[in-house]
Amino acid sequence: MTILVTGGLGYIGSHTVTELLHNGFEVIIVDDLSNSERFILENIEKITGKKPIFYPFDLKRKELLTQLFDAHQIDGCINFAAFKAVGESQVKPLDYYENNLFSLINILQEFKSRNISNFIFSSSCTVYGQADEMPIDEHTPLKTPESSYGKTKQMGEEILKDFAQAYRKKVSLLRYFNPIGAHPTALLGELPIGIPNNLVPYVTQTASGIREKLNIWGNDYPTEDGTAVRDYIYVVDLARAHVAALKKLMAEQQDTVIDIYNLGTGKGSSVLEVVEAFETANDVKVPYQICERRAGDITIAYANADKAEKELGWKADTSLEEALRTTWEWQKYLESRTQ
Ligand code: UDP
Repeated sequence: MTILVTGGLGYIGSHTVTELLHNGFEVIIVDDLSNSERFILENIEKITGKKPIFYPFDLKRKELLTQLFDAHQIDGCINFAAFKAVGESQVKPLDYYENNLFSLINILQEFKSRNISNFIFSSSCTVYGQADEMPIDEHTPLKTPESSYGKTKQMGEEILKDFAQAYRKKVSLLRYFNPIGAHPTALLGELPIGIPNNLVPYVTQTASGIREKLNIWGNDYPTEDGTAVRDYIYVVDLARAHVAALKKLMAEQQDTVIDIYNLGTGKGSSVLEVVEAFETANDVKVPYQICERRAGDITIAYANADKAEKELGWKADTSLEEALRTTWEWQKYLESRTQ
């Protein structure tokens, strides 16, 4: 079986490619390298002993995508390629809608015209906004996300539901909570461009001295220690969920399938708990200061991931500390590369 993985050199994409290769799938990667680097491809080969076919182009280039589908027999797609910076999406909304939705539609057009099914979409828990009750299961009502980034995820889901219904296709919408960590070999991980927005890359860069102090955005939330709570899921666990979701789709007998899964650990951790876990796991200090809340942040979000466990036989079982240990190893690897 040959799977097209868009954004396959990105953070979650590269880990998923590795898991697909371990599971005997052939992989074709399309990635425009807008948020990755070529050495990630070499490292995937070091880990797996296999070299995926790689096309470095932008999925908005419809003619190149058509050529790719002409050249290869493709059995499914996992679509990671998307812009993902929440703050940036607020100042460049059109770029986000254009990039995230046009590229999605271009692939779906190829699927439609060539009779291909099995499409997995990277969605996000951002589609729930601040949910009224915890934990968040798949029946929790959706709220319009505040950011244009979040809206592209919600719109992507709607496009895929219509696509599945109208053309009798199988799709799986995977709503990620907060992915963290790096590959246990320290050869794959997140490559933040510039100043990281996300908590764990910022914590890591602070521990290594690249940043002076972590800014904790608010300690007056109605949580136990006053800092906001999220569900941090280890990226390799998340990657494994994609393989499980793909296998399930491929085994389905019906023509039309719309699967939706929350992918999280089921456990919430506060910002301060993440900082403490990082310090304990790696025996380093993370200096921090408490600041005002960040605009658009919610108080609390953690998953009920029972549906994924029941239907996919999958569970995120790596501890927060173990995930944070791999992040630190990855940081050391990155620093060794630049020396
Ligand atoms: N956060 C923080 N300092 C940072 C980055 C993030 O205190 O430098 C907090 C943020 O306010 C949120 C949590 O960490 O409560 C997770 O933020 P992140 O951007 O990683 O993910 P989000 O859940 O916002 O998508």
